[in-house]
Amino acid sequence: MNSMIDQAPTGRFFSFDNSYARLPESFYVRLSPTPVKNPQLIQLNDSLAHELNLEPKDFLTTEGTEILAGNRIANGSEPLAMAYAGHQFGNFVPQLGDGRAILLGEVLDRNGRRRDIQLKGSGPTPYSRRGDGRSAIGPVLREYLISEAMAALGVPTTRALAAVTTGELVWRDIPLPSAILTRTAASHIRIGTFQFFAARGDKEMIKILADYAIDRHYPEVKEAANPYRCFLDCLIQRQAKLVAQWLHIGFIHGVMNTDNTSIAGETIDYGPCAFMDTYHPATVFSSIDRQGRYSYANQPVIAKWNLMRLAEALLPLLANDTAKAINEAQEALDTFNSRFESANTLGLLNKIGLPNGSDEDLTLAQDLLKRMADQKADFTLTFRRLCDLADSADDQKGDTSARSLFANPLAFDDWAMKWRKRLSEDNIDPAMRREAMSRVNPSFIPRNHLVEEAITAAIESEDFSVFKALLGVLTKPFDVCPKCNRYTKPPLPDQVVHQTFCGT
Ligand code: AMP
Ligand code: MG
Repeated sequence: MNSMIDQAPTGRFFSFDNSYARLPESFYVRLSPTPVKNPQLIQLNDSLAHELNLEPKDFLTTEGTEILAGNRIANGSEPLAMAYAGHQFGNFVPQLGDGRAILLGEVLDRNGRRRDIQLKGSGPTPYSRRGDGRSAIGPVLREYLISEAMAALGVPTTRALAAVTTGELVWRDIPLPSAILTRTAASHIRIGTFQFFAARGDKEMIKILADYAIDRHYPEVKEAANPYRCFLDCLIQRQAKLVAQWLHIGFIHGVMNTDNTSIAGETIDYGPCAFMDTYHPATVFSSIDRQGRYSYANQPVIAKWNLMRLAEALLPLLANDTAKAINEAQEALDTFNSRFESANTLGLLNKIGLPNGSDEDLTLAQDLLKRMADQKADFTLTFRRLCDLADSADDQKGDTSARSLFANPLAFDDWAMKWRKRLSEDNIDPAMRREAMSRVNPSFIPRNHLVEEAITAAIESEDFSVFKALLGVLTKPFDVCPKCNRYTKPPLPDQVVHQTFCGT
């Protein structure tokens, strides 16, 4: 264990072992959550609790619910709101910070990995500005569903440990019930955390933060000749891979601001995010993204832009001489495109069942995407149905299910002919190919209309059964489940969600 981390006292609920709270006072403001009127548990994530060495039974008690609502402080917790800055839609804001979240502390999971435990929607902090520090129930259920779906899809992400209602209302355009999410993360350090100190010209704090982040997330770079350059390289690799993974499941983050970009390389801050139904690379959902800055296909461009902002903040550490430091940063950033391209290529080839494919096979995959966009095909269903065709190389009868997703099914037939020819040249056993494709092409994603349906039932009739049923399906996204068929379907025309809203 590294020297910065002191052992905190163990408690019945969490065995906290806090390290962020040992960092200098300028990193945060210490404060407790604001209690709520009548907390009730909506959902506890048993399997995550197990992974975190927690006892789920503890949290099913009144005391447990009070802890998850911020009405009671667990033993060993040192609650604080983290300071950070960030570029929001390209504009720099020197001070943002946790305005509606409080870090309770850190625990070590079963694999010895350090995880933050944070309450989101737990009351105002000095960083709340005009906000109320609360969260409506919609964004809480949304983040729960989508982050857990992402985890099950194998995408690095923060997780949802629990959700509670508060018995209080919050005012958005209308009064809405409020809720609190207990979120876990490898850490909540963001690119914006570095920018917070860089904007103040505080080189000493940038170094303390970088050393802390390296200890916690990239200990392997400590031995390198230039650890800070290696740290940047490692994060560039993680972000490039992460964004490629988003693209392969049709995910659009929606607010890829630098304050929403994790230094640990996890997907963080699920606001107006969404999964595409019909494939189109220019898809945007977020109501506030009028320029399409954070559209589906622009995500790699923005990830690189965000990493440039991190590199700028790290300049004082990259070399003593400014020109040399800029050179280091540039060299590191220049690797982003090729790192992204190789992750993207590999993922696309896996999706069409040609894991050892050539450049020509990549062109074949891209041709499919182009046809899907032109023919308004459903992203998830097209790839899932391709799996079923993968072990019937000469039998075109089975194609009906896939071709029917294309406005003009002939556009699929033409592509499928080329694809089948290519598959027949490959030496992979067709049944194994199908099996491998079914492990990367999910059946179940959190489709917008299903998420909305779950939220509406919760708001209108305090009915969480719709949420729970959907969650159950989303945690097994690659399963074959005939009785879950309803969850695979794209929205009917009147169910299509065109816009999503920020998670406040
Ligand atoms: P986000 O939408 O997560 O990127 O949030 C941007 C900033 O606004 C962060 O500093 C949040 O803490 C803050 N914020 C968002 N919603 C609220 C709210 N309801 N009350 C206080 N601060 C908020
Ligand atoms: Mg945020």
